[in-house]
Amino acid sequence: MPTGSDELARAVCAGDRRALAKAITLVESSLPEERDSAAELLSAIGTLAARSFRIGVTGVPGAGKSTLIDALGRRALAAGARVAVLAVDPSSHKSGGSVLGDKTRMSRLSAEPQAFIRPSPTLGVLGGTASRTREAILLCEAAGYNVIFVETVGVGQSEERVANMVDCLLLLLLAGAGDEVSSMKRGVIEAADLIAFNKADGDRALAVLADATSLRASLAISRRPRVPDVLVLSALQETGVSELWTALAAYRDQVERDGTLAGRRGEQRRAWFEAALEEGLRELFARQPALALAREEAETSVVSGLASPLEAARHLIAQFLLPATHE
Ligand code: GDP
Repeated sequence: MPTGSDELARAVCAGDRRALAKAITLVESSLPEERDSAAELLSAIGTLAARSFRIGVTGVPGAGKSTLIDALGRRALAAGARVAVLAVDPSSHKSGGSVLGDKTRMSRLSAEPQAFIRPSPTLGVLGGTASRTREAILLCEAAGYNVIFVETVGVGQSEERVANMVDCLLLLLLAGAGDEVSSMKRGVIEAADLIAFNKADGDRALAVLADATSLRASLAISRRPRVPDVLVLSALQETGVSELWTALAAYRDQVERDGTLAGRRGEQRRAWFEAALEEGLRELFARQPALALAREEAETSVVSGLASPLEAARHLIAQFLLPATHE
């Protein structure tokens, strides 16, 4: 197993799956010294990824995300793609439990030699942090995977973060989701590029069709610049899955041709750069014990109303800059 960053980067680029898993573990780490190794690794693999398609899949627990990715991933493999699956689990680092679960997921896809499935992040890992997932996407692409699924639970912020790192966000809904759609899910609907109703089989099939029709109608009168397609499928019976793959591929071609994709990826790189800059500055602060202490004290004064937030922040920044000016 490679140890140095260069060696690890070479092994990743050669498509070594164990090296890829190790590299992802490294970028997920929040230990400062590992952050440095992760940065070296990422600069060694470079940023010029081959043409890839990053697909976010979101939906409530039980919507059928894993079942769908299992089927859709195999459809992508049949079209000649190499498929990687990553998960952003908003619950994992708080509770230790995992909404996405680590049950035997995507069993058929995981048996395929051209597929790489990363189990959902576990306790102690900042799995919910967007920048880590972005880094993991780049690593998968460097290892030759050109269709990347990023799975997340639609419970709030996580799908927005995922929308900011993929080319297309697919929202998976269930029949009777009308109430969800009208309340907390409205933001998700707005972020979605493609919508699919799952479990259109057995007794539920008609209800699914009716819900899809009414969602299409309400989207048609919305003021969105691009109205997402609404599809109907059964991930379990694999009906409508090929059609979904065709719709995804058509979306990919369309946004590539009209320049939307380049713009979106550019914006994502900008946001990533800004986040990295902020994180780097925060780390610089945290690495200086005297400043960390001063910061805690300032925070206490601010909370109790003794100091003004703006003044306290300016004072702390001046303190941060002070040693540098004496060098
Ligand atoms: P996730 O939590 O969104 O990843 O959902 P899963 O893929 O784990 O699916 C949750 C449950 O729904 C499982 O018992 C699946 O077998 C079932 N399921 C998934 N897709 C379908 C479908 O198309 N039809 C039916 N009837 N059940 C499905």
